[in-house]
Amino acid sequence: MVTVQILGAAYARVAFGEERRRWDASVPCHDCNAAKGQLHVLGCDVEECPKCASHLVTCDCTNAEPADDDDDASERDDADP
Ligand SMILES: [Zn+2]
Ligand SMILES: [Zn+2]
Repeated sequence: MVTVQILGAAYARVAFGEERRRWDASVPCHDCNAAKGQLHVLGCDVEECPKCASHLVTCDCTNAEPADDDDDASERDDADP
């Protein structure tokens, strides 16, 4: 299974023709030429985000940085003036 990392979790990528929004998959993807049932090329602007169902290249899901677990917020009073 091919996945995409979103906020530290792995989501199965959405193949062409399997979008939640109905998409005409009777012709290859106009952007990356994927055939129905194939995954888009990474960065294709047609690929749907498996999390929010908007365009994967433009939604914020993969742009957001995962929370940094190494950062202890309770010890934050040593900031320089
Ligand atoms: Zn595509
Ligand atoms: Zn998204």
